[in-house]
Amino acid sequence: MSSQVHEFQAEARQLLDLVVHSIYSNKDSFLRELISNSSDALDKLRLESLRDSELEADVADLHIRLTADADARTLTVADNGIGMSREDVIDLIGTVAKSGTAKMRQALAEAGEGGASEELIGQFGIGFYSAFMVADRVTMVTRKAGETVGTRWESTGDGTYTVDDVADAPQGTAITLSLKPTDTDNAVHDYTDPQVLRGLVKRYSDFIAWPIRMAETVTVPADEEGGEPTVEQTDATLNSQKALWAKSKDEVSAAEYADFYRHLSHNWDEPLETISLHAEGTFEYQALMFLPSQAPLDMFARERSGGLHLYVRRVFITDDGADLLPEYLRFVQGVVDANDLSLNVSRELLQQDRQIRAIRRRLVKKVISTVQELQDRRPEDYATFWTHFGPVFKEGLVNDPDNFQAVLKASVFGTTHGEEPTSLADYVERCPADQQVIYYMTGESRQQIERSPHLEGFRAKGIEVLLLSDPVDELWTSAMPEFDGRRFVSVAKGEAALDDDAAETDTAERDAEFTELLAWLTEVLAADVMQTRLTKRLTDSAACLVGDTFSMSPQLEKLYRASGQ
Ligand code: ADP
Ligand code: MG
Repeated sequence: MSSQVHEFQAEARQLLDLVVHSIYSNKDSFLRELISNSSDALDKLRLESLRDSELEADVADLHIRLTADADARTLTVADNGIGMSREDVIDLIGTVAKSGTAKMRQALAEAGEGGASEELIGQFGIGFYSAFMVADRVTMVTRKAGETVGTRWESTGDGTYTVDDVADAPQGTAITLSLKPTDTDNAVHDYTDPQVLRGLVKRYSDFIAWPIRMAETVTVPADEEGGEPTVEQTDATLNSQKALWAKSKDEVSAAEYADFYRHLSHNWDEPLETISLHAEGTFEYQALMFLPSQAPLDMFARERSGGLHLYVRRVFITDDGADLLPEYLRFVQGVVDANDLSLNVSRELLQQDRQIRAIRRRLVKKVISTVQELQDRRPEDYATFWTHFGPVFKEGLVNDPDNFQAVLKASVFGTTHGEEPTSLADYVERCPADQQVIYYMTGESRQQIERSPHLEGFRAKGIEVLLLSDPVDELWTSAMPEFDGRRFVSVAKGEAALDDDAAETDTAERDAEFTELLAWLTEVLAADVMQTRLTKRLTDSAACLVGDTFSMSPQLEKLYRASGQ
C-alpha cells in the first residue's frame, strides 16, 4: 500500500492538542510512557511465542534500546517486541482507547477551552501521545512479529499523520523523537544527554523486567605496556530489572511503588494503599496489589479486564482471564507471581486451576481486610476509597456469599444519624441497649427515602435508620441478613411498626375508638391491601402503605418487573 495521509480521530486530536499545548509540568514522563509501551510489547511477544509455536519471531534477545543523537537532536526508543501491523497503527495510535472515549469527550467539554488541568490529563494517561510534549515530530517504524512488511508512521502532532509501507523494518517498534529545543526553565531537559536518560530510567523504569540498553562511550585506561588510553563504545543496561513484588515492603520506597503502580495500571494517580503478600507452603506466590486513589474511566464497563497481572516465575502470562479476583474487586491493580504454574497454561485451564483458586481466595480476604483497616485507622483514605469504589465494592454483598459478613463490615451506609455514611459497627454502638435490630429503608435516592412517611415515627423517636439507595441494596437486604447478631428490619415492612411498645390497654382503647373506620377502610381497600391497622409509625402523615414482613420491597418488585419476572 502506498503512502497515506490520515486525520486523527476527533478525540485523539483534542487530546494531542492538549498534550502539545498544555503546561503539564512533568515532561520527563514521556520516556516512562514509551518504555512502558515497549515493555508491554515485549511481554506480549514472549507470551505469543509461548502460545503459538508456529510464530516466526525472534525472541532470543528481547530488550529495549535508547539511542540518542545530540547533533541531529533525536532520541529513539526501540524494542524488538510484538510490533504493530498497518491496521494496528491506525487503530491504536490514531484513536483514543475506545472505553475511555465517551467519558473523555465529556471531561474535555466540561474543562472547556484551555481549562484542561494537569489532573485531567493525569486521569487519562496520555501514553504514546506524551512524546509530543518534548518532540515536534514523531516517527515510528514498526513491524509485527510474524509479518514481513513494516509500517512507518509520522506526525507533527497537528491533526494529521502519514503511514507508509517499509520493506526492511526490523521486528518490533522504533519511535524516533525530533526533540524540541532544550528548555530547562520549562522542565524540558536535554534528552540526548546520556546522564539525563540514565537518571530518568533509574527514576521511573528501574523495575522494568526487560533490559533497557544504551550505547555509552567509555574511556579505557592505558594498559601496562604503555599503550594509549582508548575510547570504546559499550552497551550499558540502565535498569536493575528487579521485580518489586519479590522484595519485602521495607526494601521498596513509596515512590518506587507508585511508579510501578502507574506502569502497571496505566493510571497516573497515587496508589491509596499498597499490599504486599508473600505466600509460602503448598502454593508459593508473591502478590503486590494496589488500591487506586481514583476510579479509572471504565470502572463500570463490564468487559473491562481485571486489574491483576499474572506472572509465572517472573514471566508475564496475562492481564486478563486468570480470574485472580472477583468482579467486585476489579479496581484492585497489581501483580501475582506464582511459582508452580506451567508457563503455557491456557486461559481455560487457568480458570479451573486449583492453585489459582486458592490464590484468589486468599487475595480476596486480604483486600477486604485492607479496606477494613482503612475504615478502622485511616478515615480520610477510607472516605476517598469509598467515594470512588464503594458502589463497586458493595456488589460483593450480592456476589460473594462467602465473604458477605466481611464486606458488610467494611462497607458504610447512608443514615438518618447524619450526612456522613456510617459503618454498621458504629450504628450498633449508637443503638439503645434494647434495640436488637438494625433498621433500614431502601429507595432510589437518599432524598427520596428521606421524604418517606415510613420514617416519621422513627425520626420522632430518635431511632436511627439506614438509608440505602444503591441498586444492590435491594438485593442483599431482601436476603434478610444479620450483622453482629442483629437482624436487618425494613421500616417499610409490617414488622418494624413501633406499636409494640405501647401498653396493651392503650391499644385496646384506641382500637375501639377506630373500629368502625378500620372496618370500613378494610372493605373499601380489600382488593388492594391485606389489612388495615392503626399505627404509631406516623406523626404527620395520615396513612402509609407497608409491605408484609416477608414481601418484596417496592423497589425489588420494580427490579423484578423490569427484568420481566
Ligand atoms: P496504553 O499503553 O495505555 O494502551 P498508549 O497510548 O501508550 O496507551 O499506547 C496505545 C497502544 O499502542 C498500546 O496499547 C499498544 O497496543 C500500541 N503500542 C504503543 N507502543 C507500542 C510498541 N512499542 N509496540 C507495540 N505496540 C505499541
Ligand atoms: Mg502506554
